[in-house]
Amino acid sequence: RLREGELIYNRHPFQFEILLEETIDEVQRMSSSYKMVLKNNPPVKIFADRERIGQVITNLLTNAIKYCMGCDILINVEIKHNEMACSIHDNGVGISKDQQDKIFERFYRVSGVNLHTYPGLGLGLYISKEIIQRHKGKIYVESEPKKGTTFYFTLPVYEE
Ligand code: ATP
Ligand code: MG
Repeated sequence: RLREGELIYNRHPFQFEILLEETIDEVQRMSSSYKMVLKNNPPVKIFADRERIGQVITNLLTNAIKYCMGCDILINVEIKHNEMACSIHDNGVGISKDQQDKIFERFYRVSGVNLHTYPGLGLGLYISKEIIQRHKGKIYVESEPKKGTTFYFTLPVYEE
């Protein structure tokens, strides 16, 4: 359905910071051995499909857990020029430069030990990118192997 451009978005104005807090709590409850730290979470309204944006946050958080092996996960939000940026950082296995674009492709998974340990289809980031782009936002990654990974996504701030 995604490929055929059939994914339907139900957009409404809502407070992003509440969704972020709710989603972190939900993921934290499923995996209590990982500590998630929400640094800065300013109130910000966005015009978006709340469920789909929640899906993006969930995927980035569960990725951080899957590929980090017992580390802390830092979440942060900054607002600049009518745009909010949310970052999700882990100090896990990292992603090499040549793989950093590929991970957003359909079914792409980095080969390595983790692939055998953690299940997944390689769809999470592909779907996340589609959702964010359809909301006029950007999603990108900064990472260094063995040091860690930060995923960012941006969305326009809703002006009333
Ligand atoms: P799915 O999300 O469909 O269950 P998945 O998590 O493997 O499966 P994606 O979320 O699309 O798929 O991620 C693609 C690949 O990118 C992962 O398989 C992994 O190799 C790499 N990756 C994603 N997030 C991280 C991260 N935080 N640290 C290291 N590698 C990551
Ligand atoms: Mg995933």
